[in-house]
Amino acid sequence: PWDTIPRMVLSAADRFGDAEAVVDGPLRLSFADLTERIRVAAGAYASAGVAKGDRVAVWAPNSAEWIIAAFGLLTAGGVLVPVNTRFKAEEAADVVVRSGAKLLLVQDGFLGQEFAAPKGVPRIDVKGDFLSSGSPFQREVSGDDLADIIFTSGTTGRPKGVMMRHAQNLRLYAEWCDQAQLREGDRYLMVNPYFHTFGYKAGCIASLIRGATMLPVPVFDVDEAIALIEREKVTVLPGPPTLYHSLLAAPRDRDISTLRVAVTGSADIPVELIRRVREELPFEHIMTGYGLTEAGTATASRPGDTFEQIATTVGTPCDGVEIRIADDGEVLIRGYTVMAGYLDDPAATAEAIDPDGWLHTGDLGSLDPDGRLKIIGRKKDMFISGGFNAYPAEIEGFLMEHPAIAQAAVVAVPDERLGQVGMAYIVPRGEVTAAEIIAWSRERMAGYKVPTSVEFRTELPLNATGKVQKDLLR
Ligand code: ATP
Repeated sequence: PWDTIPRMVLSAADRFGDAEAVVDGPLRLSFADLTERIRVAAGAYASAGVAKGDRVAVWAPNSAEWIIAAFGLLTAGGVLVPVNTRFKAEEAADVVVRSGAKLLLVQDGFLGQEFAAPKGVPRIDVKGDFLSSGSPFQREVSGDDLADIIFTSGTTGRPKGVMMRHAQNLRLYAEWCDQAQLREGDRYLMVNPYFHTFGYKAGCIASLIRGATMLPVPVFDVDEAIALIEREKVTVLPGPPTLYHSLLAAPRDRDISTLRVAVTGSADIPVELIRRVREELPFEHIMTGYGLTEAGTATASRPGDTFEQIATTVGTPCDGVEIRIADDGEVLIRGYTVMAGYLDDPAATAEAIDPDGWLHTGDLGSLDPDGRLKIIGRKKDMFISGGFNAYPAEIEGFLMEHPAIAQAAVVAVPDERLGQVGMAYIVPRGEVTAAEIIAWSRERMAGYKVPTSVEFRTELPLNATGKVQKDLLR
């Protein structure tokens, strides 16, 4: 029905009126309140000189203000550049400068950082008066106009700015609402950071499409999250696999029976994790999926899929999306969801999207005969042991089947005889020794996959989107 984000967002006032749109600490806003604040914020941007197509960077944790800042900007015709709050000042400044941002909105003191704006970019406190200083305003944009530039997390190199348009975002995340079974009146606990697609698009855009209440969480703490789930009767809790690990490990002394929908992806999803989530937590609907900044959610499981399908694959392609496996095993994606390109980097864009329109993801996968995708690992996260290609992601999947292993991360270490061998970092649950894990692995995996050493940790280092930071482990 709508092809621009502002039209969708502003119509939420008519569609959902007095229902709760945002709950952020003591602040509660209805959809009518929220859309009014968004129109006022749009006016503030316009008075600050933000013209159609101008970029504005937002460097702040999840909050009501983030939502108002972002949708206010889009309503003023601007292009949103959300900046990773884990970036240190220098990395963030790099992204702000490269995006050509006209303004920078920041939350002072978050994670103990003071964010100085790069030279020439006015810096505005997102919690200050700016967003409420305008007169209601709205500028026409079209579905083909750029809506956002999200920088990749930089797992495999310098972050690249991914450009996306209004219409593609809306169409894809409307479908996401169906896949996730998001309903009007759902209460959505948002622990995924808004500077990333999963948090912002599967979070804020989806909630505004469907009329779900957004509960932004700036920093995830499992005990606080559980208290909030109980108090606010949360129904929807998406997150990376590690989120569910922490829920499973937490004391079960609170009423979290309102939880209905779990959605996971972003990193390898262990089968064992999905089994435990299904058996031990109240969720009725578990959705698994695969995606990346450059194409958003590409595949997802569907309501009605079997446990086997949900747990061992990342589902089937979204409507209008094609998936193909290249000869070398790389997952290729084509369709309307593919980015408009990398910001100011035609060479990188041409490398990522071939002349036939296929996006090369850098991930390795296989397609089942019924079109379900399995992710095997990352092209760049492979090592060669005694001449065999070994994929840490696959080995981690095996390890997670061990009853005393909660989480596993495998990295390659040099070996005189074999070139490289795997080393496993393990977060245990229960008693287990390194020798036992190695012996157990020998019975289940080809020799070249068996980790030759094991180290125990109480937790693994994660980036802001829940991926294990293997460079730190190495
Ligand atoms: P950069 O592109 O800068 O290296 P990044 O790859 O972390 O950063 P994102 O777009 O944040 O960029 O993450 C997308 C990647 O996450 C995918 O390419 C894939 O490797 C991984 N991923 C996403 N979903 C899944 C999944 N269900 N299973 C395994 N891996 C996944």
